[in-house]
Order: sequence, then C-alpha cells, then structure tokens
Amino acid sequence: MKIAVIGAGWYGCHIASSFMALGFEIVVFEKSGRVMAAASGNNQFRLHQGFHYARNHRTRVQSRDGYARFMERYARLSAPIEHNIYVVPEQDSLIDFLTYRMIMSASGLEFVEVAPENYGITHCRGGLRVEERALLTEKARTFFTKRLGSALRLQHAVRSIEAGDDGVWVDGERFDYVVDATWGACLPIQRTVFFEPTLLLYYRSSTVGNFALTAVDGQLCSIYPCEEPEMFTLSSVTHTPLGRFESSDDAWAFLGNLPTAAVDAKRKLMEAQVSRYYPAFQNQFEYVGPQLSVKTKIEGATDDRSCYVEKEGRTFKVLSGKIDTIFHASDTILSMLETEFELEDLLS
Ligand SMILES: Cc1cc2nc3c(=O)[nH]c(=O)nc-3n(C[C@H](O)[C@H](O)[C@H](O)COP(=O)(O)OP(=O)(O)OC[C@H]3O[C@@H](n4cnc5c(N)ncnc54)[C@H](O)[C@@H]3O)c2cc1C
Repeated sequence: MKIAVIGAGWYGCHIASSFMALGFEIVVFEKSGRVMAAASGNNQFRLHQGFHYARNHRTRVQSRDGYARFMERYARLSAPIEHNIYVVPEQDSLIDFLTYRMIMSASGLEFVEVAPENYGITHCRGGLRVEERALLTEKARTFFTKRLGSALRLQHAVRSIEAGDDGVWVDGERFDYVVDATWGACLPIQRTVFFEPTLLLYYRSSTVGNFALTAVDGQLCSIYPCEEPEMFTLSSVTHTPLGRFESSDDAWAFLGNLPTAAVDAKRKLMEAQVSRYYPAFQNQFEYVGPQLSVKTKIEGATDDRSCYVEKEGRTFKVLSGKIDTIFHASDTILSMLETEFELEDLLS
C-alpha cells in the first residue's frame, strides 16, 4: 500500500516513520528545504505532560498518555530538566493552588510539591516540580531525515490532490491514501481554524542552570530551556499572540513585515510580566532575539489543545494539538484504516 504524507513537521515525520515500520510504501512531501521548518521547529520545545491544561480534561489526558508513549519511543529526542517548576500566582491565576494541585493529582500526574520562594519565585501560592522534558529539535531533524531517507521529497510544495475511485493523485502521482499533516494548508478541513502569528523571545543565562518556570493558569508566562546549552525561551499567554489570520501564508507574511519596534515593545511587556514572579530575571537572563512562528487553533475551542483526525474518502487530515499527541494521530489513522480494510473484506 502506498501512502503520501504531506508536511514534514513532527506529525508528518512521526506518522511517515511509523507507517514505514509497518511495511507501507511512503512518500513525504515537504515544501521547505528541511524537516520541521515551520511550527515544529519554532515553539517552546516543551514535552507536555498535562500540567499546562488544568481547564481541559481531553488535552490533559492526551498529554499524559502521549508523554509516556514519547518516552518509550523517542526518549533520546528529549532531555530532562533538573528544576522544572510550575507555580500558581496568588492573584493573577484563574484557579487557586489547591484546586490546581488536586486536578493534577486526580489526573494521575506525578509531581513533588515545592515552596516557590526556595527558587526565588515571588507572588505565588504554591509550586510543583515536574518531570516534563525539553524537546531536542535539531536531534529530531537529524533522526527523521535519516530515518525517512529517500522517502523524503524536500522542496516539493504539493499543488494538487485529486481523489478517484481507486486511488488519490498527488501532483499526478497515484497513492492509495493521503495523510495531510499541514493543518489544512493542502486540503480543506471540516473544523474552522485560524492562524495566530506568535512571538517568543530567546535569552541566554549562564547562571540559572537547568531550570524552567511556568506560571499557571491563565494570562501568564513561562521560561523554558532550549536544546542549545544556556539558551531559553520566554513566552507569555498575554503577549505571545500577535493577531489572527485566515490563512497560514497570511500569518507568515505578517511576521515577515513585523517592525523591530513592535518586537521591542512586546519584549518590555514580557520582561515586566515575568519579573513580577521571578525578580532575578533581568540580572540572570540576557536577551538574544525573537522567535517568530504561527500557531493554528480551532475556532471556539478556547482551552482545548488536543489532537483530532478528520477522514474524507482516502484522505486523513491531522489537526495536531501539541507535539506529545503525535501517537494519538498515528493510532487514530491506523484504526480508521483497519476499519476500512475489515469492511472491504466483509463486503467483497
Ligand atoms: C509559539 C509556539 C509555541 C509552542 N509551544 C509548544 C510546546 O512547547 N510544546 C508543544 O508540544 N507544542 C508547542 N507548540 C505547538 C507545536 O509547535 C505544533 O502543535 C506542532 O509543531 C505542529 O506540528 P505539525 O507537524 O502538525 O505542523 P508543522 O510543524 O507546521 O508542519 C507542517 C509542515 O507542512 C509543510 N507544508 C505546508 N504546506 C505544504 C504543501 N503544500 N506541500 C508540502 N508541505 C507543506 C510545512 O512547510 C511544514 O513543515 C507551539 C506552537 C507555537 C507557535
């Protein structure tokens, strides 16, 4: 069976790699010159366990289970964080610390309760030290580029997908099935989505060590380590989103014209926000530059960051949540394929 996978982000790479292992003939089309060129290579690099999602059960459970699967399969594409601290601010959080701790505990997540002041954190009621890890994107790029080998067709932007009775044609080449892992850039999806240009900030710190700080829940901020030693990202639920667009291309075009003054203004706001909870920030972190990216969100699904798969004829469209849910996507597609084969066998 021949399957085309469109898009070589975390989702396309993982799905293609898993399906190759099952013996399917795979071709991966990627419009960029390398894998993980879009959101997968430009994000906060957090391998979520669910601690970010106190207000959405489906997202939390998918993250918890996805994290365990990730650790079985790709543990070496992530790294531990010695002091990975979640805190609940006293006044600015949507929920109080005890409620937050109860939700995480009831969700089967493991943590150690810590005193925020022991880490120099202020204005917070309580904290949890967690096992969430950092994703190693460069290592993942090397791994998947080798793994996919000649199945990977870089710099090939898919222009046409035509479904027929006995196959589906991608730019004129016949396949049995197509997996669109481009978030609707290739094929229309049923759900309404919008595209959010985003701004994270890179910082260097030689003093803070292997440390992450995440304030939850609501319009808050986080510092997270990157793959490169001593490098961190600063993100803010309030200040990271830069707008809403109907197409991914329009969102990227907006970022292409973003004035430096706009980045500087946001930087001031983000540094002020994080300094409220981590007063040593300005002394310990040196600004390096911006990270610009595009987040795709389902309209109306405010707190839902879980993964969905839509099927239409011989095409599967992956609406990715976060990177931990890659297994949810591949399992769902396989299950849909199995159902289809069983039906075909029974009807023939
Ligand atoms: C600021 C920010 C922070 C985030 N932080 C985290 C985090 O800490 N942890 C986490 O798990 N998630 C995070 N995310 C979300 C995460 O980045 C995405 O969920 C994930 O990368 C989506 O992967 P994907 O493979 O579905 O999409 P993408 O990585 O966007 O890949 C889609 C690919 O399709 C290609 N493509 C598009 N059109 C075509 C075409 N016509 N032909 C061929 N190829 C095409 C693109 O070039 C791209 O490579 C964050 C996102 C943002 C923006």
